[in-house]
Amino acid sequence: MNARGIDALTAAVRLRALRAAMLGCVRCEALVKCRSQVVPGHGAAPARVTFVGLAPGRLGGDRTGIPFSGDRSGNLLRRMIGCADLGRVFITNLVRCNPRDERGRNRDPSAREIANCRDHLAAELAVVSPKIVACLGAVAWREMAGGEVPFRPRRPAAFARGNVWLYAMYHPAYVVRGAYSEKAYARDFMRLGRLVRELAAPHTPEVREQYPVPVNCAST
Ligand code: URA
Repeated sequence: MNARGIDALTAAVRLRALRAAMLGCVRCEALVKCRSQVVPGHGAAPARVTFVGLAPGRLGGDRTGIPFSGDRSGNLLRRMIGCADLGRVFITNLVRCNPRDERGRNRDPSAREIANCRDHLAAELAVVSPKIVACLGAVAWREMAGGEVPFRPRRPAAFARGNVWLYAMYHPAYVVRGAYSEKAYARDFMRLGRLVRELAAPHTPEVREQYPVPVNCAST
C-alpha cells in the first residue's frame, strides 16, 4: 500500500474513534432527553467535499443514525450528490442530536447547542480534510463563514476560510417544501461539481463507508 492508501486507512480509523467518542456525548441536557441516538458525520475520509447541515431530523438521522438519510431531505441531497458526480463526500451536521420542541416536533438547535457541538464538527473536518465545505442553509453558512459574509446560494462564490473553500447552498428541506426548484438546485450541484474538479488534487484511494447514494437522476 502506498502513502495515500495509508493516509486513507488512518483517516478511517481516526473517524471511527471520533464517532465512538461522540456517541456518549451528554453536553446538552435537552438533547440527551429528546434524541434517539447521537448521529455523527458519515461518508468517505478523506473526502473532497463535506456537506454540513443543521441537525438530524426526527424521521431521518434520528431514526437511522446516518445524517441526511431516510427522509425526504436526505433522499434529495443524496440524489443531487449522485447526479453531480462529486466523488468522495462526507455528510455531517452542526449538531449531532435531533432537537425537538415540547410537542415532539423538529426545532432548530439553539446557539448553545451549536456551540457545544462545535469541536465535534471541527474534529470531523480535521480528519476528513475536505477541499470544499458545502454549507446547507443560512445557519450552517453563518457558523462556518462568520456573520459578515452574506448567505447567497443563488449566486454562490467559493469563499476561502483557512485552507478550505466554503460554498453556500440551500438546505434540501427548503427545496422539499417547494421554496426553490429541484431544477435550480441540480444546477447548483453541477456548479459545485465543476468547482470540485477545478480544485481536484492527485487521486487518493477511497475508503468509503457503506451507505448507498441513490443515482436516479430522472427528476432533475
Ligand atoms: N437531516 C440532517 O441530517 N440534517 C438536517 O439539517 C436535516 C435533516
